Amino acid sequence: MRFLQLIVCLIIVSSCKNPQEVVYSDALLSSNRQYIDENAAILEAAKANISDTAFVSLRDYGKDFFYDMKYATENNFLKTKVYDCPECYLRFKTVKALIKANQAFLKLGYKIKIYDCYRPLDVQKKMWAITPNPTYVADPATGSIHNRGGAVDITLTDYSGNELDMGTGFDHFGPEAAHDYKNLSAEVIANRKLLKEIMLKNGFRSFASEWWHYNLVNASTLPISNFTWDCKN
Ligand SMILES: [Zn+2]
Repeated sequence: MRFLQLIVCLIIVSSCKNPQEVVYSDALLSSNRQYIDENAAILEAAKANISDTAFVSLRDYGKDFFYDMKYATENNFLKTKVYDCPECYLRFKTVKALIKANQAFLKLGYKIKIYDCYRPLDVQKKMWAITPNPTYVADPATGSIHNRGGAVDITLTDYSGNELDMGTGFDHFGPEAAHDYKNLSAEVIANRKLLKEIMLKNGFRSFASEWWHYNLVNASTLPISNFTWDCKN
């Protein structure tokens, strides 16, 4: 009988594992602590009656993001620094949805890396003055969801910050950046699919021509803003 059980075990290896024997990696335990910190920060905000449409800094609530704020450097398609400092401000409801999405990615071994968040209207005007082409920059007369605090430009990294291959860089303006572009490796297609599926499950909508851009659902109803944050240094 014992022998028979061993044979069955050898055939179906998973059936031999003790189901209680779950090994938690340090990275997973650390990300679980981050969930607790983030949820506590959000609970505090609820107690303080912070409105869903208030502008808040993502860093004050989400502790486990990587940042590469492209427009606070010259490393962007404008070749110009248009932000005074690299901060990520968003409407509070966008922050809450983004934290939920990041928690789902963390469970799978990934983190969100942020390229751009809320963009004050004056910055949009600056961008338009440099590149007055609606293919690349939203006309400030109509504004973009970034000006409403409901859009993010993001990618995925592993826990060490290595970016997943998404086929093109951020702000690549060509057909290769579109979600329906198929002439990409299976790995790139899988990476984009992972990003899109979890963002959609957590209250965001994708943007057909840019794999990195996500809008919070109904964010077009938010008003355009010119709120500007303080740069601490
Ligand atoms: Zn965008």
